[in-house]
Amino acid sequence: MIQVGDKHFEEYLTADQIQSCVKELARQIDNDFASKDLLILGILNGAFLFVADLVKYMTIDPEISFLKFASYEGTTSTGKVHDLIGVNEDLAGKHVLIVEDIVDSGTTLAHIMNILKSKNATSISTATLFFKPEAYQQKIALQYIGKEIPNLFVVGYGMDYQGKGRNLTELYQLKP
Ligand code: 5GP
Ligand code: MG
Repeated sequence: MIQVGDKHFEEYLTADQIQSCVKELARQIDNDFASKDLLILGILNGAFLFVADLVKYMTIDPEISFLKFASYEGTTSTGKVHDLIGVNEDLAGKHVLIVEDIVDSGTTLAHIMNILKSKNATSISTATLFFKPEAYQQKIALQYIGKEIPNLFVVGYGMDYQGKGRNLTELYQLKP
């Protein structure tokens, strides 16, 4: 058990288990985008570690950039999504892969999709390391899912609680 801020968390996935998920996703993306112009758009802050590991395991040569906004305050999704920063790339002719750390309600993803769909990308697909199917409220299909997890707040591997815990190499679940 560990403490982050005022809360206690239990280990849910080891660093090795996470890396296996990341490797498997890299293999699938490699296969699907071989000889295509791929632009990876990581969603900050949470996806910074995932994107860094994912692209190291990939053998294709994508462009890599990041978008940023936040919908999370404390341990429950607020449903509020703020402005998106960093959509200054020309997406015409590119295959865009949105890379998320975790998809919960899907509000963030829906908002990103709305903004990106007017940018003339050849295709837009999504990769998320973790997915909470019980919390998901959107119809957008997710092409690459590392692992489905229960609807409990997690911290580690890029994901924070009150700004802390992002550098943990394992994934921890809030003790119910
Ligand atoms: P959504 O908009 O799908 O409800 O939430 C998406 C964003 O909220 C994710 O990109 C992530 O940054 C954050 N988030 C969702 N679930 C969790 C969680 O269990 N723990 C942490 N630390 N962040 C989460
Ligand atoms: Mg995120």
